[in-house]
Amino acid sequence: MTTHFIANQRVSGTNEETIPVLDPSDGQVFAHLARGNADDIRSAVKAARSAADGGAWSRLAPVERGRLLMKLANAISAHHDELATLEMRDCGKPVKQAKADATACARYFEFYAGACDKLHGETIPYTPGFAVMSIYEPHGVTGHIIPWNYPMQIFGRSVGGALAAGNACVVKPAEDACLSLLRIAELAADVGFPDGALNIVTGYGHEAGQALADAEGIDHISFTGSARVGTIIAQSAAKRHVPVTLELGGKSPQIVFADANLDDAIPTIINAIVQNAGQTCSAGSRLLVQASAYERVLELVGKRMSALRVGAAKSDLDVGPLIRATQLERVNGFLNDAKKTGLRIVAEGSIASDAPSTGFYAKPTLIADVSPQSHLAQEEVFGPVLAAMPFDDEADAIRIANATQYGLVAGVWTENGGRALRIAKAVKSGQVFINNYGAGGGVELPFGGVKSSGYGREKGFEALYGFSVMKTIVTRHG
Ligand code: NAP
Ligand code: MG
Repeated sequence: MTTHFIANQRVSGTNEETIPVLDPSDGQVFAHLARGNADDIRSAVKAARSAADGGAWSRLAPVERGRLLMKLANAISAHHDELATLEMRDCGKPVKQAKADATACARYFEFYAGACDKLHGETIPYTPGFAVMSIYEPHGVTGHIIPWNYPMQIFGRSVGGALAAGNACVVKPAEDACLSLLRIAELAADVGFPDGALNIVTGYGHEAGQALADAEGIDHISFTGSARVGTIIAQSAAKRHVPVTLELGGKSPQIVFADANLDDAIPTIINAIVQNAGQTCSAGSRLLVQASAYERVLELVGKRMSALRVGAAKSDLDVGPLIRATQLERVNGFLNDAKKTGLRIVAEGSIASDAPSTGFYAKPTLIADVSPQSHLAQEEVFGPVLAAMPFDDEADAIRIANATQYGLVAGVWTENGGRALRIAKAVKSGQVFINNYGAGGGVELPFGGVKSSGYGREKGFEALYGFSVMKTIVTRHG
């Protein structure tokens, strides 16, 4: 059985019950997790508090903090294949994707290592006889609730930023995706992180996760997950007036004008929906195409979609399995509804014949003529399902693009520079990509949503402000 990781120790916790860990490629149990509860969360918070409140972590100079983060980045790189293998088994990620996640995780720690000693405050011109400075201080102890779709990447971006700003962290990963993060916590201890700087409690969201959101001694919560649970977290945090960063879902549009360079656009459009089997918050899941190019684009996207092959993670095909049986049921529910209502299925990929029948495989699917108001166009499927719809002109494209509850990412494909910028400004979303689409990419790029996609920003230097509190100090010197 795996254990929690608290104060640099493997800890079994107080609960004897465990959680089975499934391999999504064959649906078989291959490990067991400690099932954390409120007592375990309290222990982790206590360890983090002792690191943060005058403890060894809080006494480190920023440059020393940076050096430790860099050592962790190097350790993650040195254990790249081991971590990728864990992630492949635990999350069903094809080898290439698992490796990319391990690389990105190391890169987050590298980026934030270099940022530790560059978080400068300001001096403010004020009344004569006074000197004023505003400085950034850590919140103290930050809580991090991580989803299962990109555990290593989201851990790197969220925990990397929080540690860089000087916080000690308590992390609750999704129960479907803990193994790589427990290993990274061990690596952090090995490279010299002081006790309590980084703690992980595994368990269910409604138990350990809820306990973390409610815990006394947590000063800030970074939550990445669904809009539904984001509401619960914000309500819990509000009771103690604790600030929250919410990184929630999306229904991101890829907007293709008739003048777009389709040679560039088509492979990117496909990748943006099938990467990680579509289980990506920033997946480009709606394809909006100008009416005059609509059929041509459907044909080209469909051709590539039907060539995609789905299989076990170790086969490293184009698409791996979904995370678990309920996720497959959810995706199949959308696909069956589309078929029942007579929607046009333009193309489907295929499941490899050697994919275990007990695995959780969904076919990548392109569906055309989806009404912008329908469930398929409004709700996050979180699978490799692309919903296409035509638009007439710029105004129509903007109207459809903005007509969901979400606003995470958008893509615009056009050779007209003025139009690209007009669309970029009019679309309500946290990121806009013009003639490219970086689903999940870009450690340096501030990321986050508007509307039900959440608030606050992670990634890039911007994240450090969210993981800090500004203090203003006023001196009267006469
Ligand atoms: P989820 O069900 O909201 O779970 C996210 C995390 O919250 C998991 O660790 C989960 O634990 C935990 N949790 C569940 N109920 C909780 C509660 N009552 N209190 C505290 N924690 C609780 O989301 P998911 O299905 O894992 O992830 C998919 C969603 O995440 C999608 O909507 C996706 O768009 C979004 N997402 C957003 C981003 C972004 O950066 N904007 C990135 C990735 C994913 P358990 O799983 O162990 O129950
Ligand atoms: Mg798993």
